[in-house]
Amino acid sequence: MAFSSPMPNREFLWDVFSRVDKDRSGYISTDELQIALSNGTWSPFNPETIRLMIGMFDKQNRGAVNFEDFGALWKYVTDWQNCFRSFDRDNSGNIDKNELRTALTTFGYRLSEGVVDVLMRKFDRHSGGTILFDDFIQCCIILYTLTASFRQYDTDQDGVITIHYEQFLSMVFSLKI
Ligand code: MG
Ligand code: MG
Ligand code: MG
Repeated sequence: MAFSSPMPNREFLWDVFSRVDKDRSGYISTDELQIALSNGTWSPFNPETIRLMIGMFDKQNRGAVNFEDFGALWKYVTDWQNCFRSFDRDNSGNIDKNELRTALTTFGYRLSEGVVDVLMRKFDRHSGGTILFDDFIQCCIILYTLTASFRQYDTDQDGVITIHYEQFLSMVFSLKI
């Protein structure tokens, strides 16, 4: 990601980890991470985004992240925060349609207005006509995953694929989203 932050030192990370690991299990569960993160409002952090992020860094498949994997997760969230802030040009604490379009273009997507509208509707979870931090991450992860999956079939990279029903099913069911 272009918004890379330095990896914080171990002592600092341990301090954060200990505070987030409320039940002192040695693991950060989805519930513990959800409580620790804020989307800038009083509404709870998007559980789907939490699930996606834990899944990314949970090397042992426990549905939770230990201290060794926590550093990478912490850095990932920090990088998303920097990314979100840089695209929230008007400092409103959320991403409007223009800001989303700019972000997606910067990431290299070439999407029509119609598709940007679809994304706005889909990820505007608080129905405010904007996208919050947690929903922005979910939107970007899903868009990335779907695009990568599509590209596997689009070998000539013309933006068009022809696939059979069963290929489609395999494609959709193997998505990690
Ligand atoms: Mg715990
Ligand atoms: Mg904004
Ligand atoms: Mg093609």
